[in-house]
Amino acid sequence: MRALCWNGINDLRVETIDDPIILDPGDVIVKVKLSSVCGSDLHLLDGYVPAMRSGDVLGHEFLGEVVETGAGVSKLTKGDRVIVISIIGCGHCWFCDNQLYSLCDNSNATPGMEETVYGHAGAGIFGYSHAFGGYAGSHAEYIRVPYAETNVFKVPDGVSDETAVFVSDAVPTGWMAADLADVQDGDVVAVWGAGGVGLMAMTAARIMGAERVIAIDRFPDRLKKAHAHAGAEIVNYEKVDVHDALMDMTGGRGPDRCIDAVGLEAHGTGPGYLYDRAKQALRLETGRATVLRQAVRACRKGGTVSVIGVYGGFVDTFPMGALMNKALTMRGGQQHGQRYVPTLFEHIREGRLDPSYLMTHRWPLDRGAEGYGMFKHKTDDCLRVVFDPTL
Ligand code: NAD
Ligand code: ZN
Repeated sequence: MRALCWNGINDLRVETIDDPIILDPGDVIVKVKLSSVCGSDLHLLDGYVPAMRSGDVLGHEFLGEVVETGAGVSKLTKGDRVIVISIIGCGHCWFCDNQLYSLCDNSNATPGMEETVYGHAGAGIFGYSHAFGGYAGSHAEYIRVPYAETNVFKVPDGVSDETAVFVSDAVPTGWMAADLADVQDGDVVAVWGAGGVGLMAMTAARIMGAERVIAIDRFPDRLKKAHAHAGAEIVNYEKVDVHDALMDMTGGRGPDRCIDAVGLEAHGTGPGYLYDRAKQALRLETGRATVLRQAVRACRKGGTVSVIGVYGGFVDTFPMGALMNKALTMRGGQQHGQRYVPTLFEHIREGRLDPSYLMTHRWPLDRGAEGYGMFKHKTDDCLRVVFDPTL
């Protein structure tokens, strides 16, 4: 079959590889119909995640059809139209029993990752390096899905492929961002990053009762979409000082909830403040922790900072003093999509949630490298390019 493979930093190629086969009784094989790029793939492309090997197949947000089932699978049958949660739960460990699927003890058998400089690698993730289990990804004609009864969900009738594909990752991730932020009725919620994840977090915050949502990004088309689809007020961080803008917009108190939907490649032009020991004063800093610093500094006292953007390793110049003295709550994690899927399909069917606009481009797999280039550089108003291996 054909698959889009990683061959080094920013080097993707379509290659012919063996078709996947059932390895365990709990597996199914899915014929991929749609497979989206995600901001998380950029960390792989840029070489920030360890243990990628030449030939690894990328892709973890996908929809398709079950074409083969293992002997232990009874809830799914050939022909089912399904989405698969991108982070793999085994369904029976302590963490999965407690609906903390992305912390599953069994789906990532790579030994020792907790101890490396990367920090902790959690559960297995499709197409996400050998630090996360070494599972082949979905930018391919077929994919093997382990623990299928936990991770595979049938798409309800009436929900289109173009809508459902994002229930694999962007939608539950955005939902979890708002859930971790503990959004309450009447809250002002600021979201850094108006990519697929941030946009879904904005809509989720609205559904959970936020009175106002503020989107922070620099791409006008993305900010426009945040306004159009989530009623967000917008802050372009290249045009204004983010902190001043947030203070102005909240009467000097700061947003109740701050969501970091950017992660470790935060574009560093936004200012953050760092205590300069020599000068005994705050000084402006830019860099990796830009968004975290802005969020902690702007968040109202007693508020919540939700970190759904992906980090690995260490982040320094983090304003621990502000976190502590402002009595902030900070939470983060990889998405536990399995927990949210039924609720999300309900919101979709009842018209409160429509992620289909995230698919700005639907391309054949052969244009994989080009598609990632466009997504990485945010050209052509690309929000998400979705590969269709049947084209
Ligand atoms: P994306 O690349 O489409 O969007 C990221 C956005 O952040 C871009 O629009 C970019 O302009 C913006 N940005 C960059 N620097 C910024 C800054 N300093 N201030 C404000 N905005 C800034 O990516 P995405 O698919 O939306 O994913 C976003 C993040 O969520 C990534 O880190 C990704 O790894 C993560 N993610 C997490 C999970 C999870 O389970 N926790 C799942 C999927 C994705
Ligand atoms: Zn588990």
